[in-house]
Amino acid sequence: MGHPRKIIVNLGSGTPWGQSFWRKIAFGCARQGLLNRQQHELVRLGKREPARPSDIRLETGNVGHGFVETYLTITKKRRNFKLNECVFRPWEPSPAAVDVAWRTFQAFRLAYRPEVFGPIVGTEYLLPFPCKEVCLKAKRGQPRKRKCKLHLPDQEVQLANTFGLPYFTAAIDLITKVSTAADIRRYKKMFDVKVVKGLTMHDWKFVKSASRWTAEKYYNDIQPRIYERAWNACHPADRQIANVLFHLIEKLDNDNKEFLMYTIRIPTIRPVDLAQIELFGERAIFNWDPDPRILARNANIERCNDWNRPCEFQVDGSCPRC
Ligand code: SF4
Ligand SMILES: [Zn+2]
Repeated sequence: MGHPRKIIVNLGSGTPWGQSFWRKIAFGCARQGLLNRQQHELVRLGKREPARPSDIRLETGNVGHGFVETYLTITKKRRNFKLNECVFRPWEPSPAAVDVAWRTFQAFRLAYRPEVFGPIVGTEYLLPFPCKEVCLKAKRGQPRKRKCKLHLPDQEVQLANTFGLPYFTAAIDLITKVSTAADIRRYKKMFDVKVVKGLTMHDWKFVKSASRWTAEKYYNDIQPRIYERAWNACHPADRQIANVLFHLIEKLDNDNKEFLMYTIRIPTIRPVDLAQIELFGERAIFNWDPDPRILARNANIERCNDWNRPCEFQVDGSCPRC
């Protein structure tokens, strides 16, 4: 008898040239973006251990994402996995974050079977998509001759051109396909949103309170638009995004709270959003410099205590703040 197989819960650590990086360059503190990137780079090169986020709220969200992703992708037989079967990668979360995330996830699992979201096209879907390793994977040592029809060629270039930036990457939490009238009815019944047939982009947000205000915040945020635009830039005309859903999941940080997931449907890109995305790209490239010494000069001390949490580089002393 072997040991029971462990369940790997991927906590991820963002993509290297993602929207959060470029937003820091465009509207936030460029030095913060740069220091963040340098940390990622050291991890990638194996010169630094992958570390948990400095803020417990971020960390809880990461762990919650990990549980949900595992649940949606694991075999039916194993979807009732227990916490003591889980191994976390690439960093070890704190017990406090695991406690809240697990409690929240258990309530989520009771409320939703994976099938209600499905059929699933992908989770943590990377843009650009690694076609060489996945769609065109060599068979019996021979690389495939045909092209990938799911994705456009030159996605790196498509993404760069779309935003007017040297690089752009993203990881989309979940992509599903709404194909039938029954799918549409199910989304209405389970999530109280009206969707149309087509590819549907989902994002999980683990929030303190899933109130009207949090809904407003995400509804108006540029993130869903950037993601939609990025997806569309990488895919042919028959694989564009039809619905964008953000699921606001209230974190259960004590036993007296009831589970609440509040789903909002965000309109697909309108002219006003296009203008906003254009501005985002313009501002980012204006502040951008490939030379880190020059980029680091664009420090913005207005951002040192964003969201009422001190910037980690202020805390660890790596930023002199001027
Ligand atoms: S401490 Fe302030 S100035 Fe320094 S990187 Fe962080 S946000 Fe920027
Ligand atoms: Zn492909």
